[in-house]
Amino acid sequence: MQKSNLLKFIIKNKYLIVGLIVMGALAPLAHTEPQPAEVLAVYFTPPTGAVHGLTKHLDGAKKSIRVMAYGFTSVEISQALVRAKQRGVLVELIQDEKSSQNNGEAIAPLVEVGIFVRNDAEHAIQHNKVMLIDDDVVVTGSYNFTNSADKRNAENFMILKSVYAAKRYAENWAIHWAHAKPLTEVPKKKRR
Ligand SMILES: [Zn+2]
Repeated sequence: MQKSNLLKFIIKNKYLIVGLIVMGALAPLAHTEPQPAEVLAVYFTPPTGAVHGLTKHLDGAKKSIRVMAYGFTSVEISQALVRAKQRGVLVELIQDEKSSQNNGEAIAPLVEVGIFVRNDAEHAIQHNKVMLIDDDVVVTGSYNFTNSADKRNAENFMILKSVYAAKRYAENWAIHWAHAKPLTEVPKKKRR
């Protein structure tokens, strides 16, 4: 198209062009917050025992459990993930590269049953503590998946049912999964 013809085209279609630009700018807002979510549970420590609220939901997973962990030393949670894997649920876990040195005791059983584990070394720390159950449940809060979080610290986590939130968290999980490095061997079982 010659310059003069292009100018005529723009003048003739100026409202269409402006409309398309506005639509393009607003497109990312089409699915933005606020979105409804159902609060399935809220847990605090102390008292100890919040871990059982979490494992109860993990035992209900039918399709997939995707985890982003910083500390991961909880044998109860590790065992719940192993049970999930053994009944055919896809389990994938990202852990912080540096804190992974303390996670061996709880991570080793996962690797031994074929759960995919990756180490994220792309950040100062991978500090997300998130679990995605199937395509609609999000677990998140300050609570690390550790014995300390359950028995010694003051922590919280929520279990939310929201397809929208699960999708947003899954998108973020996928970014970290892509740059995290697969574990190449079963980690040493050194207790924290
Ligand atoms: Zn990352």
